[in-house]
Amino acid sequence: MPELPEVETVARDLQRWVAGARILSARVDWERTIRHPLPAERFVAEVAGATIARVGRRAKTVLIHLADGRVMTVALRMTGALIVAPPGTPPDRHARVVFDLADGRELRYRDVRKFGRIGLWEGGGLRSGGSQRVGESRPAYRVGDVFAHHGPEPLSASFTVARFTERLAHRSGRLKSLLLDQSFIAGVGNIYADEALFRARLHPLRRADSLTPDEVKRLHRAVRGVLRAGVNNRGASFSDYVGADGQPGANAERLRVYRRTGEPCYRCGRPISRVVVGQRSTHFCPRCQPAEMGE
Ligand SMILES: [Zn+2]
Repeated sequence: MPELPEVETVARDLQRWVAGARILSARVDWERTIRHPLPAERFVAEVAGATIARVGRRAKTVLIHLADGRVMTVALRMTGALIVAPPGTPPDRHARVVFDLADGRELRYRDVRKFGRIGLWEGGGLRSGGSQRVGESRPAYRVGDVFAHHGPEPLSASFTVARFTERLAHRSGRLKSLLLDQSFIAGVGNIYADEALFRARLHPLRRADSLTPDEVKRLHRAVRGVLRAGVNNRGASFSDYVGADGQPGANAERLRVYRRTGEPCYRCGRPISRVVVGQRSTHFCPRCQPAEMGE
C-alpha cells in the first residue's frame, strides 16, 4: 500500500506533467471509485472543462488543485495508480477513471483491486488540518473536511521535536500502533513505521509514554529520515505501486528491516525478527531494538 513517499512521488510526477493541463472530459468505468459528488455522472459533469493548477499531497492522498479553487482527492489505497498516457497508448482494462486532457494525453486512474477513491470538493480548510463544522449535520464538502481527523504532516516544518513530544506524552499505546494511527501522524504505514523504529533503535512494542527525551528525539529524526529517503528513492515497490511514469520506485532494496525476516541485521548481524502487532506484520532487530532500555 502506498505510503507518504510513494504518494509524494506520484504527486511530484503529476505536478511536472499535468500542471496547467485542461480536462476536456472524464469517463468512469467503475462507479464505486467516485466518492463525491454522486452519482458518478455528476462528478463527470463537474470536472469537465477544469484546468489543473497544481498537484500536491496530504497524508496518503494525492491532491489535484483545480484553477477555480476546487480540489480533487485521489486515495490510491491498495493498488491505485495515476498514469499519464501519451496519445495513442493502448487502453488499460484496469483503468477505472480516465480524464481526457486537451492536449490529447490521458490521465488514467488505474486500480486492479478497486479500493481507491476519487472525490471532487470545494477548496478550503486544508491548512488548518481540517475544520470543526459548526451546528447542523452538513455533509463534508470542503476538502479540509476530508482530512479533519488526520494528524500533522511529518515532513512539514511545523512538525518539530517539541510538537512530537507533546503528542506522544499522553499516549500509552505501543509505538508501532501509534505510528500507524493516521490521527497521530499522517502518511506513515507499515513499511516506514518498521524502518523508523529500527533507525531509532526502539522496540515496536515500547509504550509511547515510556520514552526518554533522547528517545523521542531519535524517533522524530528517524521518522523524518526514512520518509525523506523514501521520497528521494521514488518510493518502495512491493506489488502494484508505480510512479506516474508507470515505473516502480527504488526504495524497497534499501530497507533495513521491512520484509527481511530471518536475514542478518545490517548493523549487528543477528536475524531480523517478525511479530504481529495489531494484525500488522512487524519487523525488527531484537538486539538493536531491545524491549526495554538498558537491556
Ligand atoms: Zn541489529
